[in-house]
Amino acid sequence: MSSVPVAVVTGSNKGIGFSIVRALCHQFPGDVYLTARDPSRGQEAVKKLQEEGLSVLFHQLDIDDPQSIRALRDFLKEKYGGLDVLVNNAGIAFKMHDTAPFAVQAEVTLKTNFFGTRNVCTELLPLVKPYGRVVNVSSMASGLALGKCSRELQQKFRSNTITEDELVELMTKFVEDTKKGVHEKEGWPNTAYGVSKIGVTVLSRIQARMLSEKRKDDHILLNACCPGWVRTDMAGPKAPKSPDEGAETPVYLALLPSNADGPHGQFVSEKTVQTW
Ligand code: NAP
Repeated sequence: MSSVPVAVVTGSNKGIGFSIVRALCHQFPGDVYLTARDPSRGQEAVKKLQEEGLSVLFHQLDIDDPQSIRALRDFLKEKYGGLDVLVNNAGIAFKMHDTAPFAVQAEVTLKTNFFGTRNVCTELLPLVKPYGRVVNVSSMASGLALGKCSRELQQKFRSNTITEDELVELMTKFVEDTKKGVHEKEGWPNTAYGVSKIGVTVLSRIQARMLSEKRKDDHILLNACCPGWVRTDMAGPKAPKSPDEGAETPVYLALLPSNADGPHGQFVSEKTVQTW
């Protein structure tokens, strides 16, 4: 078994994830895994970084596929006995002009952004070693969507005692409410992406709380963040930040020094803790 520290970035064949891998290759003292759901897109991305003289490794990972997540888990367990840095970056967004029915957009978006990210965490968080760092890439869209939720939903999403099961129930209810055409009546905002990222931010708050309760001597720091508005296939060419600039806050959180006792359980933007 290797004792080299290991970092994994989900959805890193392009965009912000690719830039996070590039920065970690420069700064992380260990093995860095670029992962992609499509192995050929992944290998092509690996080749690009190798051409820059960087040393990077590849593993397949489709966060929508439980078997793929388990394969990565088993690989990390066997080769490294765990992992040190996990960046949950993989995500999707329908384009503004997409004509797919809202209920379809809700189901598909939540499936990857919330349920997929949660499934990765369920399998990989128990493997995270002492002094490990976990970064869940959320979005400012989560805060904006929160502000458009009913008062009752806002209270639940801001609660310091909400459980993961309760959050899953709420995310499931959102999808069901869109199918029944009652989501607005039920207090939800009109944004599937925004609700999926509320899920990611609140999940991060819950996970951090659990780590503090159950593994408090392990000094693991886990946060959600927004990378900013970044020029990628998702956000388009008009966004002000380059992907490398978008990687800055996630990489800062992934590399918090071992003597840091925070941030933890926070939503961070521009390397600054935001109120939720
Ligand atoms: P992007 O260029 O579209 O890249 C998204 C990445 O996620 C791609 O590598 C994609 O792989 C991967 N992915 C999607 N579904 C996946 C799955 N089921 N399993 C594994 N990988 C999957 O988007 P981006 O702008 O870099 O976004 C990265 C993260 O930042 C997302 O979570 C996004 O919500 C968040 N974010 C972005 C912005 C922005 O302005 N760009 C702002 C706030 C938050 P494929 O190539 O196979 O599709």
